[in-house]
Amino acid sequence: MRLSDLQTGEKAVIVKVLGHGAFRKRIMEMGFIRGQRVEVLLNAPLKDPIKYKIMGYEVSLRRSEASMVEVISLDDVYRANDGEPARSSVSFLEEETVKQMVDRSAKTINIALVGNPNCGKTSLFNVASGAREHVGNYSGVTVDAKKGYFTYKGYHFNIYDLPGTYSLSAYTPEEIYVRRHLREETPDVIVNVVVASNLERNLYLTTELIDMDVSMVIALNMYDELENSGNVLDYDTLGGMIGVPVIPTVSKSGRGIENLFDTVIDVYENQNPKVRHIHINHGPVIEQGIKVLKDALKTDPRIIKHFSPRYLAIKLLEGDREVENLLRKEQNFGSWMTLRDKEKSKIEKTLGEDVESAVANEKYGFISGALKETLTWGNKETAHLTHLIDSLVTSKVLGFPIFLFLMWLMFEATFTVGAYPMSWIESGVGLLSEWINSIMLEGPLKDLIINGIIGGVGGVIVFLPNILILYFFISFMEDSGYMARAAFI
Ligand code: GDP
Ligand code: MG
Repeated sequence: MRLSDLQTGEKAVIVKVLGHGAFRKRIMEMGFIRGQRVEVLLNAPLKDPIKYKIMGYEVSLRRSEASMVEVISLDDVYRANDGEPARSSVSFLEEETVKQMVDRSAKTINIALVGNPNCGKTSLFNVASGAREHVGNYSGVTVDAKKGYFTYKGYHFNIYDLPGTYSLSAYTPEEIYVRRHLREETPDVIVNVVVASNLERNLYLTTELIDMDVSMVIALNMYDELENSGNVLDYDTLGGMIGVPVIPTVSKSGRGIENLFDTVIDVYENQNPKVRHIHINHGPVIEQGIKVLKDALKTDPRIIKHFSPRYLAIKLLEGDREVENLLRKEQNFGSWMTLRDKEKSKIEKTLGEDVESAVANEKYGFISGALKETLTWGNKETAHLTHLIDSLVTSKVLGFPIFLFLMWLMFEATFTVGAYPMSWIESGVGLLSEWINSIMLEGPLKDLIINGIIGGVGGVIVFLPNILILYFFISFMEDSGYMARAAFI
């Protein structure tokens, strides 16, 4: 339950504060930390702010702020204690129940998997939750969020597999979906899945998440491919630079997954030394615009609970319609828009390009700077080979003939090669029924065994070789990555 749900006079214990970093920090500095008791001094239904008593002080929170604080009502604790002991006396028994209930609630971690399409989110979701979702190579397989559960080291994890996105703007349904999820579900920790062998593009989304100021861990996925490429990434240094722990994973095999969730727990418990909120510098001109807007937005605590003011400022400057709609209800909306238009045109006049491209350029500049210091290119042989194969199997001229040849090969092998074991099985089954025919007396039992069991089962298993060969080819094409190329052409 949320702090804002409590009535005047009710008491509760704090479980956790949700929302982005700066917001959480401010609320926690006021004393709203796990295990603290809080009492509602004044909460009238339409009244904002609400008055609380915590650590012996009186503090006021906006209703919207209080709705981001998860609590356990002491009434629920008494109920768990069968109504005993009475409200006034704080007994040992009650303390224990409170502690247990807070612990139980605090040990639930909500995770969202955020990353580009095909970066391995669903594979990670599957190894973590044990669910058997189908892993597709073509984009658009994940159109909805899937939820999974698992427990690890005494923590209960709720994990969401979100649709793949390249950025967090409002251009595609996937982007809007992911952003809405982050805003409405406020995950405790975001696992940003990035493809280790394609960092330049994958880290773009990461820079946007950094703007959002969310708790996050990076899963450096497909680390096996990076190793095979001969390139070396100093991921510890990279993590230190961007203030986000980076954990190598291979979600196909499960390597690194335990380490990933150990780190998620650390970040959740605010115990990871790497975690630090950085500002990606967008250059003096844009930063000036961001600052002006941010300062204006900051004065309204109602809107900054889910997204950081810096993120909102950047998105407003970029002309993000969804963010505008989010703020439309606010009373200062008009003046923000005037300010935005002024800053936007100032930036565009000075830089000679629209804000969106300018921001993207600066972000890519930041990424390539970070990679220059941490990524060492090794031998390019394998990468070269991959490119060669890629250009061959997806080429305009050869792509389709190769595809048709592979399809022909698959079915030819299935039926022509499969015909041999098929005939062996057929004759084996025939021999078996002949032999039984010769040793058994006529009667219904013999009929059942020969025509029913051997005939029935035999009729099915003759197809086993075909099925095995067909599935062998399909698996081979999926795992070699050819399926992705075929989907592409
Ligand atoms: P999603 O679109 O982010 O959900 O990505 P998927 O989980 O569907 O994975 C896309 C493809 O990448 C699949 O073919 C996976 O088998 C493959 N894949 C996932 N994780 C890894 C990994 O760690 N290493 C390698 N080599 N391939 C992976
Ligand atoms: Mg998926």
